[in-house]
Amino acid sequence: MRIDKLLSNIGFGSRKEVKQLLKKGVVKIDGQPVKDPKTHVDPDQQEVMVNEEVVEYKEFVYLLMNKPAGYLSATEDEYQETVIDLLEMEDAVLQPFPVGRLDKDTEGLLLLTNDGQLSHQLLSPKKHVPKTYYAVILGEVTNDDIAAFKKGVELDDGYVTKPANLEIKSSGNQSTIHVTITEGKFHQVKRMFESVGKKVTYLKRISMGPIVLDEEELKTGEYRELTEEEVQILR
Ligand code: URA
Repeated sequence: MRIDKLLSNIGFGSRKEVKQLLKKGVVKIDGQPVKDPKTHVDPDQQEVMVNEEVVEYKEFVYLLMNKPAGYLSATEDEYQETVIDLLEMEDAVLQPFPVGRLDKDTEGLLLLTNDGQLSHQLLSPKKHVPKTYYAVILGEVTNDDIAAFKKGVELDDGYVTKPANLEIKSSGNQSTIHVTITEGKFHQVKRMFESVGKKVTYLKRISMGPIVLDEEELKTGEYRELTEEEVQILR
């Protein structure tokens, strides 16, 4: 890889800014100053230093966000804010994208990565990765709903959902529930409740596969990098 690309990817600025940095002679590969932006470097074999500090090159970034309502699960939008707007520059530079979508008004666990292979695996319908949501429902959720979700419900477009696990946390004119689904149809949870005549008034994803949102650690709008162990168990 070219040294200017590597430094730019890490977050040392645009190619033009990196060129200026190289000109100053503060970049070294294996102890040798390099000034030519076209110089090739193998980040796995060679040590790169900027201003006498070793820089770590990483190809992939894996982030776990507690998404707030009001942000689109997209990388860019002409008019509305996206979850990428919540990232620090140093994390955005590797161009992560959301793994699947949460609706604009849905909160909670959202993974972001630039690892297309992992994202594809997590979203593949064949993998049946379970996703659990906490929801507030207008109306009384009943054991009949649990049975219906277990069997599969018919959505407004005629699609019949795969078995889903519904747990009632509290019930009344307004109920709170946990629901676990293994698919990711558009507005799926909201449409599943519509199919049994109820309305979701609040929705938050609390887990995806083995990753569980810890809301003490990650407040709404915050994010952190996944640990290496977490990335491994997701694979
Ligand atoms: N189901 C929905 O209806 N909305 C989401 O954001 C996620 C799942």
